[in-house]
Amino acid sequence: MSQGRFINIGERTNVTGSARFKKLILSGEFPTAVEVARDQVENGAQILDVNMDEGLLDAEAAMTTFLNLIAAEPDISRIPVMVDSSKFEVIEAGLKCVQGKPVVNSISLKEGEAAFLEQARIVRRFGAAVVVMAFDENGQAETAEHKFAIAERAYHLLIGAGFDPWDIIFDPNIFAVATGIEAHDDYAVAFFEATRMIKARLPHALVSGGLSNVSFSFRGNNPVREAMHSAFLYHGIRAGLDMAILNAGQITVYDEIPAELRERVEDVLLNRRSDATDRLLAVADTYRGTGAAQAKADPKWREAPVGARLSHALIHGITDYVVDDTEEARQAAARPLEVIEGPLMDGMNVVGELFGEGKMFLPQVVKSARVMKTAVSHLIPFMEAEKAASGDRSSKGRILMATVKGDVHDIGKNIVGVVLACNNYEVIDLGVMVPAEDIIARAEAEEADIIGLSGLITPSLDRMVEVASEMTRAGLKMPLLIGGATTSKKHTALKIAPAYEHGVIHVDDASKAVGVVSRLLSTERKPQFLAEVADDQARITAPASATRATVSLREAQARGFDGRFADNRPQRPLLPGRQVIDVPAAELRPVIDWSPFFWTWEMRQTFPAILDDPDKGPVARELYENAQAMLDRIIAEDWFSPRAVVSLWPANRKGDDIVVWTDDERTAETARFHMLRQQGTKSGGRANFCLSDFIAPMGTPDWIGGFAVTTGSEVHGIADRLRTEGNDYDAILVQALADRLAEALAEEMHARVRRTFWGYAADETLTPEDLIAERYRGIRPAAGYPACPDHSEKHTLFRLLDAAEIGLSLTESCAMWPAASVSGLYFAHPDAAYFGVGRIGRDQVADYASRKGMTLDEVERWLAPNLAYDPAVPVAKSA
Ligand code: SAH
Repeated sequence: MSQGRFINIGERTNVTGSARFKKLILSGEFPTAVEVARDQVENGAQILDVNMDEGLLDAEAAMTTFLNLIAAEPDISRIPVMVDSSKFEVIEAGLKCVQGKPVVNSISLKEGEAAFLEQARIVRRFGAAVVVMAFDENGQAETAEHKFAIAERAYHLLIGAGFDPWDIIFDPNIFAVATGIEAHDDYAVAFFEATRMIKARLPHALVSGGLSNVSFSFRGNNPVREAMHSAFLYHGIRAGLDMAILNAGQITVYDEIPAELRERVEDVLLNRRSDATDRLLAVADTYRGTGAAQAKADPKWREAPVGARLSHALIHGITDYVVDDTEEARQAAARPLEVIEGPLMDGMNVVGELFGEGKMFLPQVVKSARVMKTAVSHLIPFMEAEKAASGDRSSKGRILMATVKGDVHDIGKNIVGVVLACNNYEVIDLGVMVPAEDIIARAEAEEADIIGLSGLITPSLDRMVEVASEMTRAGLKMPLLIGGATTSKKHTALKIAPAYEHGVIHVDDASKAVGVVSRLLSTERKPQFLAEVADDQARITAPASATRATVSLREAQARGFDGRFADNRPQRPLLPGRQVIDVPAAELRPVIDWSPFFWTWEMRQTFPAILDDPDKGPVARELYENAQAMLDRIIAEDWFSPRAVVSLWPANRKGDDIVVWTDDERTAETARFHMLRQQGTKSGGRANFCLSDFIAPMGTPDWIGGFAVTTGSEVHGIADRLRTEGNDYDAILVQALADRLAEALAEEMHARVRRTFWGYAADETLTPEDLIAERYRGIRPAAGYPACPDHSEKHTLFRLLDAAEIGLSLTESCAMWPAASVSGLYFAHPDAAYFGVGRIGRDQVADYASRKGMTLDEVERWLAPNLAYDPAVPVAKSA
């Protein structure tokens, strides 16, 4: 039994289990619902359970819409979907939308063998795996024997119907325990026992379960629920449990459950004593609300010995007494260095561990780093006086980090740097836009133990391959870490790892960085870790996308979206042409969308709910208050100079292109935007969208808009200064706020365009919340995003706008500088909506290349993640 192979199934995309998800789906807020899915993936879900069984919903439609939306999100659709419904029609509707191998949840013998086999056959036709619930004609199975008997019968029926045994997953029913009803006391034991029997006697079959049910009696008491979940998994996995539907955010580490609580929880789960429920209830309340908030307010910690006080200050991010405490510790120590290597590192180790286990959140860790740096900077003069240069201090290893050439985003990299520094690794950060040769020269000069590369936009993927090849050429031997928004396990395995043989590891979030780095720097553990990584990478071979069904470009064009321009007559802008506008930060404050602010800090939940979250609430509130205080200063002291340029032009659609005319005569063309069309197979008469479909063809006058906005370049200097002062917390805060203000400025300008400049929504009255939820007519797609994934279109936009006038420029990879900037196009069509182009075929790539006047090779580079084929494989000649 290996914990490593256990599969987490994300449960939050389920309307019956999550009140929030239900609300989002019922109110049609699908984009936010998609974020719930992304959350799950980011929290470590390896399969996504999707359930739309709600009386008020057209479950089939909701399932179809939602699955199609997540299919267009590569970071979500990389994991399989478990189509969950008690209605088979809904499952069938879902199966039609899932790409890759789906899992059906569930079928059962409730209605007898004939119905069971009929459904099984349909499931098999879709190539899906299937969950079989332990129900039969007599109802739910509660004893181990009954559960197993049903599983055995279903197993033989399914094998007879042609199923592979590894596509059969049994769910032997996890029911609530500690309910006060004696008949329920043995439920968990029966589950474990049935699991053991299935694994022993039904070869290759898998076992799953819905975990949250087990702790149903303790709703509202998360610490107890988490303890029950962890202990249940611990025993379940030992019995052979392969996977469970669960909330990854609601599991604690088994070893960390307080001994008393664990014993009482296990008494209940394992039914070890008749008073087990009472004994758990008796202590349950004392564990409610354990956590960080209480500890900080508690003044008693000041009475502890100095080492413990330093630890406490580090864990709780309190700088108030740290200089005095550090001084006291220094006087007691033989050498100042001992204070760092003793109490301070001890405290940071605890921080590192708690974060690694998901028990501390990122803002807390970054604050701990600030406490650490304050303490260290107090000690440095003494160390220098002692002539024991600070270089004496032994770090656990040296890591060189850089954002690759052409790319400018670095908040994520800065966060990883802080987290590593907290764990006593020495971090050398080369900043942004760093050419391969500089990375290699510095790595050699500094004798770096590891190199870490970061990048946000598509072209950076190629830059990373280049760095890897250059490392090979230079004969370097240290491992290479890859991270950042466009990077993926798959791209790392297929493209970067083959270019460098000393270990290329994809690290997708800050909390994982420390674990990876510590394994790489341990001589004992490194070989095995690299072997595991290589193994994993070997398994990711041919891109699944290569086989993904695509319709021809011609066919897709024939099925384009019909804008019905006769009914939807485009409206001439009231104020066509270009405007440059300054908007003070104070005016942007109300339009800030705070949810992504928390995501930057790896706190994945939406605002304002996050402020009241039982776990994250206290940390989130403090972070929010700090952000407000900084925003007060940004406004009062005029830190930034937000500027926008917008323009509205006469335009018409020509094929999949959009022609922009010099004037309303529409005779002279000034530019052309090149758009891409979806080529996926669509069901239910849905169109194959292309953004140009939202613009009227020649003969009907229409218009398009463009915009570019920036918070200004000041933020870079401010963040650098804060970092030099050792204040990484405020440095990250100011960068995150500059990004928020740029997005708010984009929102504000879009509103002004709709209401005033274009004026097609002159009487629009929307609250800031409505704006953030995009409850308006029209869209502002941004190059590099799913509807128009080609970043290089920004060249055309920037030229038309003369974006240079507001200080904006593009790097060779088409990243915008300064980094806190947003640009895009405006479409006013009443049905205009965001979509994802998804995978496109060779025919469209060739067509696009000729439209853009680029070589095939160039286009394939800009659109690498969208190709439905492997450009390295030559086209088969038809006979
Ligand atoms: N309120 C958010 C807005 C940014 S995300 C914030 O403050 O961060 C939404 C923006 O991303 C849209 O306005 C659009 O510019 C872009 N976008 C989202 N989905 C897109 C898609 N499918 N295609 C193109 N652009 C998209």
